[in-house]
Amino acid sequence: MIVIIMGPPGSGKGTQAKCISEAHAFPHLSTGEMLRQEVSDNTPLGQEVAPFLRAGKLVPDELINRVMEHILKEESYRGVVLDGFPRTVVQAQQLSQTLQRLQLRLVLVVVLDVPEDVLVARLLRRAQQEGRSDDSPEPIRERMREYEMKTAPVIDYYRHASVRLQTIDGDAPIAEVTSRINVALEAAMAVTP
Ligand code: AMP
Repeated sequence: MIVIIMGPPGSGKGTQAKCISEAHAFPHLSTGEMLRQEVSDNTPLGQEVAPFLRAGKLVPDELINRVMEHILKEESYRGVVLDGFPRTVVQAQQLSQTLQRLQLRLVLVVVLDVPEDVLVARLLRRAQQEGRSDDSPEPIRERMREYEMKTAPVIDYYRHASVRLQTIDGDAPIAEVTSRINVALEAAMAVTP
């Protein structure tokens, strides 16, 4: 069973994906966290993706698709909360094929909706707290641009596929957003065998 949490940078995807993953005992898979780990471990993959992360650019589809295909094949991912993937229509198409092949069901796509001024304020605050290299003004602008150009069309892709998609107001206290997602998820699981 697969749940996708989507939303622009700073919308709380990671935080919410963790809450949902703990509540339902699904593993949480964040492609951003995974890539940052590769960079900090200085692996060949980390060296390849580091310039993209630093600039706030998406890494190439072919690369992330290869990594995700491998990960989703693992038995432990029979159920998973995906955070930060898919981020392009090409990735979404590839994910659909992989899920079909592995007979995994996409139960729900959650889109977190947060006004842009709130997003920017959150990201700049996070920059001070966590020191992520892409949380400075220019990479933030680039990540927003990438989201609008490449990731927002994924929402339409899922709208046109027969996938359950729920937009949730993410400009609220964390626990309230989690509880809204949980309501949507319970409803989705109730109709999904
Ligand atoms: P995140 O932690 O989800 O904000 O991701 C941080 C960065 O990792 C992004 O700005 C991209 O450079 C890269 N990244 C994460 N997930 C993907 C993806 N699905 N496709 C391409 N790049 C990604």
